[in-house]
Amino acid sequence: MNVAETSIDAPLAGRGDERLLLDRGSLFLQRTAAVAAAAAAEAEDVDHQARFPKAAIDAARREKLLGMLIPVEFGGFGATISDVTEVCYTLGRACASSAMIFAMHQTKVACLTRHGSGSSFHEKLMRRVAAEQLLLASSTTEGQNGGNIRSSAAAVERSGAEIALTRNATVISYGAEADGIVTIARRTNDAASSDQVLLAVTRENYTLERSLGWEALGMRGTCSAGFELKIKGPAEMIFPEAYEKIHVQSMMPVAHLSWSSVWAGIAAAAVERAQRFIRKAARGSGGQLPPGAAHYTSARRSLAKLRATITANLDNYAVREYDERALASLDFQSSINLLKVEASELAVETVMSAMRACGLSGYRTDGEFSVGRHLRDALSAPLMINNDRILSNIATASLMSGVPAGLRD
Ligand SMILES: Cc1cc2nc3c(=O)[nH]c(=O)nc-3n(C[C@H](O)[C@H](O)[C@H](O)COP(=O)(O)OP(=O)(O)OC[C@H]3O[C@@H](n4cnc5c(N)ncnc54)[C@H](O)[C@@H]3O)c2cc1C
Repeated sequence: MNVAETSIDAPLAGRGDERLLLDRGSLFLQRTAAVAAAAAAEAEDVDHQARFPKAAIDAARREKLLGMLIPVEFGGFGATISDVTEVCYTLGRACASSAMIFAMHQTKVACLTRHGSGSSFHEKLMRRVAAEQLLLASSTTEGQNGGNIRSSAAAVERSGAEIALTRNATVISYGAEADGIVTIARRTNDAASSDQVLLAVTRENYTLERSLGWEALGMRGTCSAGFELKIKGPAEMIFPEAYEKIHVQSMMPVAHLSWSSVWAGIAAAAVERAQRFIRKAARGSGGQLPPGAAHYTSARRSLAKLRATITANLDNYAVREYDERALASLDFQSSINLLKVEASELAVETVMSAMRACGLSGYRTDGEFSVGRHLRDALSAPLMINNDRILSNIATASLMSGVPAGLRD
């Protein structure tokens, strides 16, 4: 069976066909290409109108990519985080908002698959994500607490087997369009702000009342409005493991790997435009490179660094993925935090170099060489859990871990 013959409804493994496993990479590529085409076609309008990229997310549903991380036994494709980051990169080249929505959704699904196994409520939700292609949003930012995820104000209220939670959710990307929300909260009313739990909730168990709009410089299609989030339902919505553990093992590593891949995709799209500009200029002047060519080379250099940083961290995560101690180590936690800082800065740097390579044609908001949208989208990267916050949080830990003795230590 080759890729073209593979049914769209078939899981990628578990059918006893080894060739299917071999084709797995190209099958994801094929499905991703269909989503990327839909995303690219509406990218300008999504940005202009600050509207949800419906065609792209509908295509992701049709291609069953929203459930790609769900294990085969629960109806998904059993994809790896590495598979997900490839999709994020490809979508990032087409439409940053679609890619970021996909990345945020997959981060929530990664928490569900790893920390929901063994809990009948969460296993049922896994099956629903795969079968119904549910889109999950994230609510971590609360009140004026900014990106301080490891501290919550709102607490879970318990009444027998039922719980309730009301959160001042300052930002929930695609909150209005999502089928479910994964959110953090204080364990109980008398728990410390860092004693948190994670909850997975679907539409029937929550209401959203809009408190803030989303008129932003970039990432406009993420529709990251503010809401009052009110949850009521069974206590089983709470994950069995403490959020502290989920944060270290899944939430933060997968978020940083997938977001970074989105930003690399945005940077790659800007580099592609700069390449076309330089080629056209060279053709028009008998092969003579325009003066901005050096900026194009700089853009290529920082894009190469960005991709290498992400792949090194992907490998680092893959070898530790099921080793709890290694995941919790100071070295790994510092490195995966620094990935976010480094990738976000490199993405902005790359897009800036691409813009300088294109000159006015890049600065314009119209025309085939415009990189204005890419720059506005990339500028969200250093703020999305602010780099300053991350650097100050890991300052003490990085003092405690030794300086590597060898290149591959
Ligand atoms: C495109 C996009 C989508 C998002 N989607 C979601 C979502 O779906 N769900 C969600 O919950 N959140 C979401 N967020 C919010 C995000 O996760 C962060 O919470 C938010 O970007 C931080 O907001 P802030 O800059 O107001 O707060 P802060 O992090 O408090 O930063 C404010 C200022 O304080 C400075 N600062 C903060 N801490 C320190 C420190 N320790 N040392 C030095 N300076 C510091 C920063 O540099 C910055 O200047 C999204 C953000 C973006 C950009």
